[in-house]
Amino acid sequence: MQRFYENCRLGKSGKKGYPKYKKFSRSVEYKNSGWKLSADRKEITLTDGFEIGIMNLWSSRNLVWYSEKQISRVRVIRRADGYYAQFLVDWDRREEHEFQGKMTGIDLGLKNFSTDSDGNTVDNPRFLIKSERRLKMLQRRVSKKHIKGKKQSNKYHNARQALAKQHLKVSRQRLDKARKDALALVRSNDLIVYEDLKIQNMVKNHHLAKSISDASWYQFTQWLQYFAQVHGVIVIAVPPHNTTVDCSCCGAKVKKTLSTRTHRCNQCGAVLDRDHNAAKNILAKGLKLLAEYLNSTLGHRGSGAKSSKAQGETNRWLKNGDALALSWLDELRTKNSWESPAIPRIG
Ligand SMILES: [Zn+2]
Repeated sequence: MQRFYENCRLGKSGKKGYPKYKKFSRSVEYKNSGWKLSADRKEITLTDGFEIGIMNLWSSRNLVWYSEKQISRVRVIRRADGYYAQFLVDWDRREEHEFQGKMTGIDLGLKNFSTDSDGNTVDNPRFLIKSERRLKMLQRRVSKKHIKGKKQSNKYHNARQALAKQHLKVSRQRLDKARKDALALVRSNDLIVYEDLKIQNMVKNHHLAKSISDASWYQFTQWLQYFAQVHGVIVIAVPPHNTTVDCSCCGAKVKKTLSTRTHRCNQCGAVLDRDHNAAKNILAKGLKLLAEYLNSTLGHRGSGAKSSKAQGETNRWLKNGDALALSWLDELRTKNSWESPAIPRIG
């Protein structure tokens, strides 16, 4: 069973004072009781005496589609610009997918948001750069108005509110973009490989632009996993070793500094963009893992301890081993169009 978060805009309730949130907590969660939807699904009443009481719902999705039984949880969240209700809906979502045998590797980077193994790039859009610049400016304003060790002025609180709203705006824009990019990619591919970036480690880097990118990459890969499940497409995360260094044509190691933008191989003479080279390596790694997985699972080749070890290794990275897509890939493989690109020269 798949779960699906439904975000609903809620109206501000007017000045009735703050609801009884736990200290430091900005949300209240309900299970099957404590709330009631109106017949037209345009209102929710919180019946447990929660101070905001009745809220009008504005939603991008129509809640009329779901029965109350399908809603297993309601979460009321306070954000910088009002109250929101999140509905957790049990809903098995499936979309038709036209399988065409298209596969792609994705390199997530700083210069471009992503580069695929065919050399196509997705850049960071202007509106996001603008919003992030404004975010930095508002942050400076808050810092300037902060008075150490005293009660803060109204000007400070206003600046802080403005910053919170901008944060919300930027995070929404990022989320929206991550979702759209991921959906477009899933729609036009049957197999997608990306690099598991160990996001946790990277966020320790305090450079703002970088951590913003990290957050977007994470959201993007989360949505990729989600849409892949909905469309029955395979998504593989591969470990991030040597994808920049290796030559995607001959496998030779070509050392690079951070500023080296072009991959030039002395062994085979390959010259291509650094990220394009990485994306090709990422796709090759994913195909290699998948080939091992198919070999060990479907028993076409290899048996015993070695293949079960390989399978264990592969299971770590193969997250959406959807049965339908796997059987389709096996069909492709038996038609011999699979094995030729499947075993790349990767160490
Ligand atoms: Zn080479």
